[in-house]
Amino acid sequence: MTLPQVGYIGLGIMGRPTALNLIKAGYSLHVYARRTESTQPLTDAGAVAYDSPKALAAVADIIFLNVSDTPDVEQVLLGKGGIAESARQGQIVIDMSTILPVQTRQMALRLAEKDITLLDAPVSGGEAGAIAGTLSIMVGGPQAAFERAKPLLDVLGKNIVHVGESGAGQVAKACNQIVVAGTIAAVAEAITFARRNDVDAAKVREALMGGFAGSKILEVHGKRMLDHDFKPGFKSRLHQKDMHIVLDTARQLGLSLPISSQTTQLINGLLGLGEGELDSSAIIKVIERMSQQ
Ligand code: NAP
Repeated sequence: MTLPQVGYIGLGIMGRPTALNLIKAGYSLHVYARRTESTQPLTDAGAVAYDSPKALAAVADIIFLNVSDTPDVEQVLLGKGGIAESARQGQIVIDMSTILPVQTRQMALRLAEKDITLLDAPVSGGEAGAIAGTLSIMVGGPQAAFERAKPLLDVLGKNIVHVGESGAGQVAKACNQIVVAGTIAAVAEAITFARRNDVDAAKVREALMGGFAGSKILEVHGKRMLDHDFKPGFKSRLHQKDMHIVLDTARQLGLSLPISSQTTQLINGLLGLGEGELDSSAIIKVIERMSQQ
């Protein structure tokens, strides 16, 4: 069986290791990035670099995107020099970026006019999951395209769920971020509470890990908070973007999400401190500042 030619656009914290895993699995990889620093680790591993998404799309059958935000996906797909300009019948685009569900559905319809299928396939599991190939992948889009994409997704993730039609993967990812952001804020409050009571916060985390308060967030982000090590990970400015996806969608639906609203204010405060490039566990800095810790 001939393997498909695979394209990859968006080679940052998440894209770089996932793209490398596809090369390790034997796929021929074609990459595009705005900066050569981003393509270098991939071309060193055997990928071929192109000077536009359009040029890459002329050779790739299945194309991954892992860029920052909704306008970036739109630009790469439908902008000048974008993928749609050299569309080929039967191509699949797998968008792993976290973006707005509504825009995803609109872009999927525009690409369908050119016989390209857009799957939304946002992920959870962070940089560590991307490196290990153990991501959770939440997929929206047609069943047939999902089945064609599945062997590649199996290389990148362990928990791969076809959630529903176009946009359903992005809805699932927004749900993920509601839980993640709220839990990060709760863990930050708990660690600050322990410290203000002159109790060893590391011991508190250790005790909590075995009970109902135990979670991946307490384990991973809690450790970052204890160490005050906020190297990303997941940049706060991207978490702010995700919370605005949640709140914008909720506003359109007339849906009240009080916890998510409050958590967003904490992330806004962190960006106000000029710390948008820090990992989102740095939310604890805002809690500490409010309490003069
Ligand atoms: P990142 O390190 O900032 O990387 C983003 C990459 O996208 C960069 O290499 C950037 O290229 C490229 N890019 C952005 N806009 C572009 C455009 N208009 N055209 C071409 N390339 C563009 O971000 P990341 O952490 O990998 O996150 C990527 C996506 O995954 C985001 O949607 C994020 O919310 C989501 N996500 C992240 C994590 C995590 O833990 N980091 C977890 C789950 C989901 P340049 O290098 O040229 O600027």
